[in-house]
Amino acid sequence: MDERLLADNIAKLLERVRLAAEKSQRAAGDIRVLAVSKTHPAEAIRAAHRHGLDHFGESYLQEALAKIAALAELPVTWHFIGPIQSNKTRSIAEHFAWVHSVDRGRIARRLSDQRPGDLPPLQVCLQVNISGEQSKSGVDPQDLPRLAAEVLELPRLRLRGLMAIPAPTGDPAQQRAAFSRLRGQLAQLSALAPDLDTLSMGMSDDLEAAIAEGATIVRVGSGIFGSRNR
Ligand SMILES: *Cc1c(COP(=O)(O)O)cnc(C)c1O
Repeated sequence: MDERLLADNIAKLLERVRLAAEKSQRAAGDIRVLAVSKTHPAEAIRAAHRHGLDHFGESYLQEALAKIAALAELPVTWHFIGPIQSNKTRSIAEHFAWVHSVDRGRIARRLSDQRPGDLPPLQVCLQVNISGEQSKSGVDPQDLPRLAAEVLELPRLRLRGLMAIPAPTGDPAQQRAAFSRLRGQLAQLSALAPDLDTLSMGMSDDLEAAIAEGATIVRVGSGIFGSRNR
Protein backbone atom coordinates (compact mmCIF):
# COMPACT_ATOMS: atom_id res chain seq x y z
CA MET A 1 0.00 0.00 0.00
CA ASP A 2 1.16 3.49 -0.86
CA GLU A 3 2.55 5.19 2.23
CA ARG A 4 0.77 8.49 1.55
CA LEU A 5 -2.55 6.65 1.43
CA LEU A 6 -1.72 4.90 4.69
CA ALA A 7 -0.79 8.20 6.35
CA ASP A 8 -4.03 9.69 5.07
CA ASN A 9 -6.07 6.76 6.44
CA ILE A 10 -4.42 7.13 9.83
CA ALA A 11 -5.05 10.88 9.95
CA LYS A 12 -8.72 10.36 9.02
CA LEU A 13 -9.10 7.61 11.58
CA LEU A 14 -7.60 9.69 14.39
CA GLU A 15 -9.96 12.49 13.44
CA ARG A 16 -12.94 10.08 13.63
CA VAL A 17 -11.80 9.00 17.08
CA ARG A 18 -11.33 12.60 18.18
CA LEU A 19 -14.79 13.63 16.97
CA ALA A 20 -16.50 10.60 18.51
CA ALA A 21 -14.77 11.25 21.82
CA GLU A 22 -15.75 14.90 21.75
CA LYS A 23 -19.39 13.99 21.12
CA SER A 24 -19.40 11.82 24.23
CA GLN A 25 -17.41 14.32 26.26
CA ARG A 26 -14.58 11.88 26.58
CA ALA A 27 -10.84 12.53 26.25
CA ALA A 28 -9.52 11.17 22.94
CA GLY A 29 -6.40 10.15 24.84
CA ASP A 30 -8.46 7.61 26.79
CA ILE A 31 -9.15 5.67 23.60
CA ARG A 32 -6.33 3.56 22.20
CA VAL A 33 -6.25 2.68 18.52
CA LEU A 34 -5.19 -0.93 18.06
CA ALA A 35 -4.06 -1.29 14.45
CA VAL A 36 -5.23 -4.70 13.23
CA SER A 37 -2.46 -5.76 10.87
CA LYS A 38 -3.53 -9.35 10.10
CA THR A 39 -2.87 -10.32 6.46
CA HIS A 40 -0.74 -7.20 5.95
CA PRO A 41 3.05 -7.45 5.62
CA ALA A 42 5.67 -6.36 8.14
CA GLU A 43 6.48 -3.36 5.94
CA ALA A 44 2.94 -2.03 6.37
CA ILE A 45 3.38 -2.23 10.14
CA ARG A 46 6.69 -0.41 9.91
CA ALA A 47 5.02 2.33 7.87
CA ALA A 48 2.09 2.62 10.28
CA HIS A 49 4.61 2.95 13.11
CA ARG A 50 6.31 5.82 11.25
CA HIS A 51 2.92 7.54 11.28
CA GLY A 52 2.45 7.24 15.00
CA LEU A 53 0.79 3.87 15.69
CA ASP A 54 2.45 1.58 18.21
CA HIS A 55 -0.10 -1.09 19.20
CA PHE A 56 -0.77 -3.84 16.65
CA GLY A 57 -3.32 -6.66 16.69
CA GLU A 58 -2.92 -10.04 14.99
CA SER A 59 -5.34 -12.97 14.62
CA TYR A 60 -3.36 -15.71 12.88
CA LEU A 61 -0.50 -17.00 14.99
CA GLN A 62 1.99 -18.30 12.40
CA GLU A 63 1.70 -15.14 10.36
CA ALA A 64 2.02 -13.00 13.49
CA LEU A 65 5.15 -14.78 14.75
CA ALA A 66 6.93 -14.15 11.45
CA LYS A 67 6.13 -10.44 11.62
CA ILE A 68 7.06 -10.15 15.29
CA ALA A 69 10.45 -11.71 14.49
CA ALA A 70 10.97 -9.47 11.45
CA LEU A 71 10.14 -6.36 13.49
CA ALA A 72 11.92 -7.35 16.71
CA GLU A 73 13.74 -4.00 16.94
CA LEU A 74 10.55 -1.92 16.48
CA PRO A 75 9.20 -0.57 19.81
CA VAL A 76 5.61 -1.74 19.41
CA THR A 77 3.15 -3.65 21.59
CA TRP A 78 1.60 -6.82 20.18
CA HIS A 79 -1.96 -7.90 20.92
CA PHE A 80 -3.39 -11.32 20.03
CA ILE A 81 -7.07 -10.96 19.05
CA GLY A 82 -7.91 -14.23 17.26
CA PRO A 83 -9.42 -17.54 18.33
CA ILE A 84 -7.04 -19.54 20.57
CA GLN A 85 -6.43 -23.27 20.28
CA SER A 86 -4.77 -25.06 23.22
CA ASN A 87 -1.69 -25.99 21.21
CA LYS A 88 -1.06 -22.29 20.45
CA THR A 89 -1.03 -20.93 23.98
CA ARG A 90 2.72 -21.25 24.57
CA SER A 91 3.69 -19.12 21.57
CA ILE A 92 1.04 -16.56 22.48
CA ALA A 93 2.25 -16.40 26.09
CA GLU A 94 5.83 -15.94 24.90
CA HIS A 95 5.37 -13.34 22.17
CA PHE A 96 2.45 -11.07 23.00
CA ALA A 97 1.84 -8.41 25.64
CA TRP A 98 -1.96 -8.58 25.44
CA VAL A 99 -4.56 -11.22 24.59
CA HIS A 100 -8.14 -10.06 23.90
CA SER A 101 -9.74 -13.40 23.10
CA VAL A 102 -9.63 -15.51 26.26
CA ASP A 103 -12.98 -17.26 26.56
CA ARG A 104 -12.40 -20.38 28.66
CA GLY A 105 -10.61 -21.42 31.81
CA ARG A 106 -8.45 -24.08 30.23
CA ILE A 107 -6.90 -21.54 27.85
CA ALA A 108 -6.43 -19.01 30.64
CA ARG A 109 -4.66 -21.57 32.87
CA ARG A 110 -2.32 -22.59 30.08
CA LEU A 111 -1.46 -18.97 29.24
CA SER A 112 -0.65 -18.26 32.89
CA ASP A 113 1.44 -21.44 33.28
CA GLN A 114 3.35 -20.72 30.08
CA ARG A 115 3.98 -16.99 30.53
CA PRO A 116 7.78 -16.63 30.81
CA GLY A 117 8.96 -15.49 34.25
CA ASP A 118 11.08 -12.66 32.85
CA LEU A 119 8.10 -10.97 31.20
CA PRO A 120 5.43 -8.89 32.93
CA PRO A 121 2.05 -10.59 33.43
CA LEU A 122 0.05 -11.13 30.25
CA GLN A 123 -2.63 -8.43 29.92
CA VAL A 124 -5.95 -10.18 29.31
CA CYS A 125 -9.44 -9.32 28.11
CA LEU A 126 -12.21 -11.89 28.23
CA GLN A 127 -14.11 -12.21 24.97
CA VAL A 128 -17.87 -12.17 25.52
CA ASN A 129 -20.43 -13.54 23.08
CA ILE A 130 -22.59 -10.46 23.29
CA SER A 131 -24.90 -11.21 20.34
CA GLY A 132 -25.78 -14.74 21.40
CA GLU A 133 -24.71 -16.28 18.11
CA GLN A 134 -24.23 -20.04 18.40
CA SER A 135 -21.18 -20.24 16.17
CA LYS A 136 -19.32 -17.25 17.57
CA SER A 137 -16.48 -17.50 20.03
CA GLY A 138 -16.70 -15.79 23.37
CA VAL A 139 -17.95 -16.77 26.79
CA ASP A 140 -21.71 -16.67 27.41
CA PRO A 141 -22.57 -13.68 29.59
CA GLN A 142 -24.03 -16.02 32.22
CA ASP A 143 -20.68 -17.84 32.55
CA LEU A 144 -18.61 -14.66 32.60
CA PRO A 145 -18.44 -14.06 36.40
CA ARG A 146 -17.11 -17.57 37.01
CA LEU A 147 -14.47 -17.25 34.28
CA ALA A 148 -13.43 -13.81 35.54
CA ALA A 149 -13.08 -15.14 39.09
CA GLU A 150 -10.86 -17.93 37.80
CA VAL A 151 -8.67 -15.61 35.74
CA LEU A 152 -8.26 -13.23 38.68
CA GLU A 153 -6.61 -16.09 40.59
CA LEU A 154 -4.03 -16.86 37.91
CA PRO A 155 -0.65 -15.41 38.89
CA ARG A 156 0.78 -14.64 35.45
CA LEU A 157 -2.33 -13.04 33.95
CA ARG A 158 -3.61 -9.56 34.64
CA LEU A 159 -7.30 -9.23 33.90
CA ARG A 160 -7.92 -5.84 32.27
CA GLY A 161 -11.48 -6.05 30.94
CA LEU A 162 -13.73 -7.35 28.18
CA MET A 163 -13.75 -7.69 24.41
CA ALA A 164 -16.60 -8.35 21.99
CA ILE A 165 -17.23 -8.68 18.27
CA PRO A 166 -20.99 -8.06 17.94
CA ALA A 167 -22.97 -9.37 14.98
CA PRO A 168 -22.42 -6.86 12.17
CA THR A 169 -25.23 -4.37 11.62
CA GLY A 170 -25.39 -1.04 9.84
CA ASP A 171 -27.92 0.28 12.35
CA PRO A 172 -26.19 2.62 14.81
CA ALA A 173 -28.88 2.02 17.46
CA GLN A 174 -28.29 -1.75 17.32
CA GLN A 175 -24.53 -1.21 17.36
CA ARG A 176 -24.84 0.88 20.49
CA ALA A 177 -27.19 -1.62 22.14
CA ALA A 178 -24.61 -4.41 21.78
CA PHE A 179 -21.73 -2.27 23.06
CA SER A 180 -23.92 -1.09 25.91
CA ARG A 181 -24.43 -4.72 26.96
CA LEU A 182 -20.66 -5.22 27.11
CA ARG A 183 -20.29 -2.07 29.15
CA GLY A 184 -22.96 -3.43 31.53
CA GLN A 185 -21.07 -6.71 31.87
CA LEU A 186 -17.91 -4.84 32.81
CA ALA A 187 -19.81 -2.79 35.38
CA GLN A 188 -21.14 -5.99 36.97
CA LEU A 189 -17.66 -7.50 37.15
CA SER A 190 -16.34 -4.40 38.84
CA ALA A 191 -17.84 -5.67 42.09
CA LEU A 192 -15.42 -8.60 41.79
CA ALA A 193 -12.45 -6.64 40.42
CA PRO A 194 -12.60 -2.87 40.92
CA ASP A 195 -9.59 -2.06 38.73
CA LEU A 196 -10.85 -3.40 35.40
CA ASP A 197 -10.28 -0.56 32.96
CA THR A 198 -10.61 -1.94 29.42
CA LEU A 199 -13.46 -2.26 26.94
CA SER A 200 -12.03 -3.57 23.66
CA MET A 201 -14.86 -2.90 21.23
CA GLY A 202 -15.46 -1.16 17.93
CA MET A 203 -13.89 -1.80 14.52
CA SER A 204 -13.63 0.19 11.28
CA ASP A 205 -17.39 0.29 10.68
CA ASP A 206 -18.76 0.84 14.17
CA LEU A 207 -16.13 2.62 16.23
CA GLU A 208 -18.29 5.74 16.77
CA ALA A 209 -20.98 3.64 18.48
CA ALA A 210 -18.34 1.84 20.54
CA ILE A 211 -16.72 5.09 21.70
CA ALA A 212 -20.14 6.47 22.65
CA GLU A 213 -20.58 3.40 24.88
CA GLY A 214 -17.19 3.66 26.55
CA ALA A 215 -14.68 1.78 24.38
CA THR A 216 -11.10 2.21 25.60
CA ILE A 217 -9.55 0.19 22.75
CA VAL A 218 -10.89 0.27 19.19
CA ARG A 219 -9.53 -2.44 16.89
CA VAL A 220 -9.18 -1.04 13.38
CA GLY A 221 -7.94 -2.99 10.37
CA SER A 222 -9.38 -1.95 7.01
CA GLY A 223 -9.79 1.66 8.14
CA ILE A 224 -5.99 1.84 8.37
CA PHE A 225 -4.52 -0.71 5.96
CA GLY A 226 -7.30 -0.95 3.38
CA SER A 227 -9.33 -4.06 2.58
CA ARG A 228 -7.99 -7.55 3.15
CA ASN A 229 -8.12 -10.13 0.36
CA ARG A 230 -8.32 -13.38 2.23
C1 LIG B 1 -10.07 -8.28 11.74
C2 LIG B 1 -10.48 -7.86 13.10
C3 LIG B 1 -10.70 -6.51 13.42
C4 LIG B 1 -10.59 -5.38 12.41
O1 LIG B 1 -11.69 -5.34 11.58
P1 LIG B 1 -11.86 -4.15 10.48
O2 LIG B 1 -13.29 -4.24 10.12
O3 LIG B 1 -10.93 -4.45 9.37
O4 LIG B 1 -11.53 -2.88 11.17
C5 LIG B 1 -11.04 -6.19 14.71
N1 LIG B 1 -11.16 -7.15 15.67
C6 LIG B 1 -10.96 -8.44 15.41
C7 LIG B 1 -11.10 -9.44 16.51
C8 LIG B 1 -10.63 -8.85 14.13
O5 LIG B 1 -10.44 -10.16 13.88
